[in-house]
Amino acid sequence: MESFKPIDDSGIQKWSNANIENLYRRNKRFAEEVRKLIYKYTDKLVKIHGRDFKLKFMNFCGTHEWTTVHYGIRSLLPENVELVAGPGCPVCITPSFLIEHAIKLSLEGVRVYTFGDAFKLRAVKPVKDVRSLAEAKASGGNVTVVYSFLDALKDSYNYAKESLFLAIGFETTAPGYAIPLVNRLIPKNMYLLPALRLTPPAAEYAIMEAKKRSMPSIDGIIAPGHVSSITGAKPWDVVSRKLGIPAVISGFEPLDLLLSILELLRMILKGEVGVKVEYRRVVSWNGNVESLNAINTAFEVVDSPWRGIGFIDESGLEIRGVYSNYDSFKIFSLDKPSRISWRDDSLSGCKCTEVILGLAKPTECKLFLNGCSPSKPFGPCMVSSEGTCSIWARFGGYLNLKR
Ligand code: SF4
Repeated sequence: MESFKPIDDSGIQKWSNANIENLYRRNKRFAEEVRKLIYKYTDKLVKIHGRDFKLKFMNFCGTHEWTTVHYGIRSLLPENVELVAGPGCPVCITPSFLIEHAIKLSLEGVRVYTFGDAFKLRAVKPVKDVRSLAEAKASGGNVTVVYSFLDALKDSYNYAKESLFLAIGFETTAPGYAIPLVNRLIPKNMYLLPALRLTPPAAEYAIMEAKKRSMPSIDGIIAPGHVSSITGAKPWDVVSRKLGIPAVISGFEPLDLLLSILELLRMILKGEVGVKVEYRRVVSWNGNVESLNAINTAFEVVDSPWRGIGFIDESGLEIRGVYSNYDSFKIFSLDKPSRISWRDDSLSGCKCTEVILGLAKPTECKLFLNGCSPSKPFGPCMVSSEGTCSIWARFGGYLNLKR
């Protein structure tokens, strides 16, 4: 068994040369050591700032929220340390107008490929009384659920008519579309309906929004591990320094999260900003250069709308003109809202916007498990397995809260 010395105050930096791979999964002794240090660091901060001192960390990624809830991470933290979920669920933030376009085209006979978690996503405006791709399929619409873009590609090669792929995702998913696009591997009868969004601008927006609304500030970011495997750590360093709060890129095991929280506390104690990479078994400083090149070749960065939020500067990807023969917006002359024409696309009664921005807990929504549940989702945060409401509903996120 891997032996390790008691951990000292230098946080995760100390273990950079240790064989941590063997320690991550279910190592109670290691977890207990990390937990003790989390309490020790918090006590030090309380001694400096007083008993009412509170810290709020945002875990950006839906999968981090899954780990947090699934393993009861919140119940392991001191009362002064709060962990909130952020906007890291691509389905939750996909604007309604894109779903409405997809519904309309499917009802007109265009084959619409979608991931399963977007299948039940409700549109704000019904199209011919239809509010989701699931309802469209039930009404005779041409909708095919796939596990991946590659599955859709394979199917569309054998399909003579027009089809489109509802390309939802963050930086992690973008190379999966960009590489076939730049290599012209997509059949001529298939188009993309891109709903690709970039995560660092959204994290920055969420943190600034808390300030604007005079809500408790976010004191540290647990940055997304999978996204950062593509982007590298650099963009999070920029966000961290701009906002003046530390960021740690975390893996997805429970111990990854505990270590990331510990590192945030250490950085706050030392007054450090910038990014640290806890998930260094996957994430480098510069990221996946080949994927980034493909993304930059296929797409351009534009100001984009996020569901329930509106436009965030330079937060989305659009297909470049040279590939416009694959762009559903051009092929089907679809409308695209501007900042001026944008209308709020929240569903009445749903608090997803606040949940996504880390300003409310799912349990603060009156519809939570009372008209909105994973089997019958109403709002977007209940649809996907990465949605905060869905995670809380399925794994009891509300059970081990201390506050
Ligand atoms: S419980 Fe449902 S309606 Fe309420 S915020 Fe969550 S997704 Fe929206």
